Amino acid sequence: MPDEHIVVEDDQPRPAAQAVEPTPDERHCDPNADVVLVSKDQVHLRAYSHHLKQVSKFFADLFTLPSKLEPINLDFDSFVISIYLDLVIAPTYCYSVIIDQHNHDSETLKQLLQISEYTMSEEITKNVWQVIREMAIAYPQALLNLAHERQDLDLARVAIKCINSDSIDLPHLCGGNECEGRCASYEWAETCSERINDFQRFFRPLDPAYQEEFLQLMLLRSKIKADNPNVEGKKEVMEWNEEDWTWIAERFDPDRSLDEKI
Ligand SMILES: [Zn+2]
Repeated sequence: MPDEHIVVEDDQPRPAAQAVEPTPDERHCDPNADVVLVSKDQVHLRAYSHHLKQVSKFFADLFTLPSKLEPINLDFDSFVISIYLDLVIAPTYCYSVIIDQHNHDSETLKQLLQISEYTMSEEITKNVWQVIREMAIAYPQALLNLAHERQDLDLARVAIKCINSDSIDLPHLCGGNECEGRCASYEWAETCSERINDFQRFFRPLDPAYQEEFLQLMLLRSKIKADNPNVEGKKEVMEWNEEDWTWIAERFDPDRSLDEKI
């Protein structure tokens, strides 16, 4: 083993200190660009002030100040700033294509929304919202969490209207009253315990107030259906369809009491 190497490194602590030096972004690194943005993870991203000014009121205001263009620290990760800068230099009609590349990733969309709101980039914000709302069909739960974080009931309602039996399905037990193991031996697509797990998986990550509101409205809706003579069959009562989710979405508001909603 080259022991002498270790000794040399110990004598020179400098390289470790240099590790915190900002690194240049791989794509936004044009040396002629007059603005340097420094991300939370210490990456330098370069951009042109005239591009930033066009899309962002934050930068437009910042660049009217007489001071020199110092590196600007932004409390966002470099990957989000990089997507934001892709949008800054893109023509408006390309926004939805660029944002849509992240339509499977609610965390990236959330951070993209935060940076576009922070920088007061109105047109970008509008387009991010559009993709987020379209995403509701595939990820209603991710959107519900975002709605809760932002105290945005309209967004929660968009997400709830997109819930279907893929998101929430109350499981039937193979033995009627209990699991008798038939689900496993008769090749059901999912066993009883897997289906129960799926059902719980939807609710588990939600905020407790949202969970409670959901379950109360779902039970109330089921009772209304059970009392309706036009509803045939017992199973229909507990199988919530599009009309049911719309009913629940319209009433969803954890801050209002249940009796105000009926
Ligand atoms: Zn079973």
